[in-house]
Amino acid sequence: MSAVIQMSDEIVSVNPATGEEVGRVSITSPDEVCEAVQRGRDAFSKWKLTSFDDRKRLVMRARDVVLAAMDDIAHLISAESGKPFGEAIAMEVAPVLDLMQWVAKNAEKMLGPKRVGIGLYSLLGRSSKIVYHPLGVVGIIPAWNYPFSIPLGETVMALMAGNTVVIKPSELTPFVGLKIGEIFEKAGFPRDVVKIVTGRGETGAALVDAAPDKIMFTGSVATGKRILAAAAPNMTSVVLELGGKDPMIVFEDANLELAASAAVWGAFCNAGQSCSSVERLYAQESIAKELTRKIVEKTRELKQGAGDDEDVSIGAMSSARQLKIVEDHVNDFRDRGAIIEIGGRRNENLDGLFYEPTVISGATNDMRAMQEETFGPTLPIATFKTEEEAIALANDSEFGLTASVWTRNYEKGKRVAEQIQAGSVCVNEVLYTHGIGQTPWGGFKNSGRGRTHGREGLMELVQPQHIHVNRIALLPNAWWMPYSSNAVKTFRGFASKFASGSLIKTSALLPQLWKRITELRKK
Ligand code: NDP
Repeated sequence: MSAVIQMSDEIVSVNPATGEEVGRVSITSPDEVCEAVQRGRDAFSKWKLTSFDDRKRLVMRARDVVLAAMDDIAHLISAESGKPFGEAIAMEVAPVLDLMQWVAKNAEKMLGPKRVGIGLYSLLGRSSKIVYHPLGVVGIIPAWNYPFSIPLGETVMALMAGNTVVIKPSELTPFVGLKIGEIFEKAGFPRDVVKIVTGRGETGAALVDAAPDKIMFTGSVATGKRILAAAAPNMTSVVLELGGKDPMIVFEDANLELAASAAVWGAFCNAGQSCSSVERLYAQESIAKELTRKIVEKTRELKQGAGDDEDVSIGAMSSARQLKIVEDHVNDFRDRGAIIEIGGRRNENLDGLFYEPTVISGATNDMRAMQEETFGPTLPIATFKTEEEAIALANDSEFGLTASVWTRNYEKGKRVAEQIQAGSVCVNEVLYTHGIGQTPWGGFKNSGRGRTHGREGLMELVQPQHIHVNRIALLPNAWWMPYSSNAVKTFRGFASKFASGSLIKTSALLPQLWKRITELRKK
């Protein structure tokens, strides 16, 4: 069973936990996608002129709309993605509400004009400031795994920066995408400031071809590369939020009870379909058995089922394709001699796309499933002896999205964290930092390019303009034409004295500088 039935001109969205139809949406044609971008561009000419206060008021109204409809939204997310209803609130609605209030209240502070120190140039009567201009139309192409929080959060950041937005939700979650459009409409945003186009990969490709001013893409490395290539002819800049194979390192001095609970949540929430899921656990040899036993015990307690039951912890996989990858990876572990401690099969008691939460011991980095992203409810455990070995094993990956280090020695934790090649590394925490909207989110290596969230994420959505003013515009600059041997002598002085940044050294240049300026004034 697939969560989506492929038809020529419409998408049928299906609940992966029950097989029931959620609804049908038509596919936006490439011409209509171009039109949506054009309308967004027309709307931009007015939207970019709105004040931060007006934007904030509207975003906070959109936030109220989300809050008032929280349960309905969570049920819809759950129906289209298969994740438990409660998890949709905890991991999508709550974090995005927090991001919305933070960016609404702080965008002006971050994007208002900034004076920049220009060192010794300021002694020449000059000053510089940076003004941040919005880009235009931002095209957002999210994945299906966090179909609400990721595109909504990116949209709000783009809007606060003064851009307009066109979103192409995943074909697996089109109604969640349409819901986002509805939220902005209800909040009273001007027409065409946020537009939703629906369809499959081709519709996403049409959005890239329509040359928006920025693409915010979340998805696989393969599609990310395709989008980069397609964006190149228009030189559209692209932020890529891609996959992960995130390691969790547990040292022998860690709180094992806590680490085991964290590993279970980190590996199995959203049925393991989080880009920052724990996909590899490295346990120090001396505690590996005990930690594995605790993890297995905790896994055994988890109830799996349809997303609407409030005591369900593990929902369905989002698609048959994803479930097949999980089966292949678990088979690979089995074939290579790793031990399936619990799970390791589809949940035959349930009709939908359910795979049992699976704990695997005896994994090693040369196994295929320790290198490729699984994106499912599997937790492979490998062991290490020393700190250096743990770091090397964690870094032995093409990915670098997040990682976690577990130890009671915080100095060691921070020391190890800084040596791990990943965009976010937690000490004694796991997975949840996408929920901290104030901090930058993005990957090292093949996990991505650019950042969302935080000040760094806002900076992706603007172009900085440098305004430079000379308040004492009376004399020609010493570096202007015509050149002469006197000029060259002065330039040498610039290189050896002024460029040192030292006022004392530069003052020795003043007689020569004056000579040169006098020479220029006589010309
Ligand atoms: P895909 O790359 O298959 O798809 C991502 C999005 O791109 C979907 O909306 C898809 O549409 C669209 N798309 C597909 N082909 C094209 C194309 N040629 N041009 C433009 N758009 C296209 O990824 P998945 O949906 O399978 O998502 C899972 C991946 O996302 C995992 O690797 C995961 O780690 C990563 N991810 C990364 C995050 C991060 O923050 N770093 C966060 C969440 C997920 P459609 O679905 O309709 O085909």
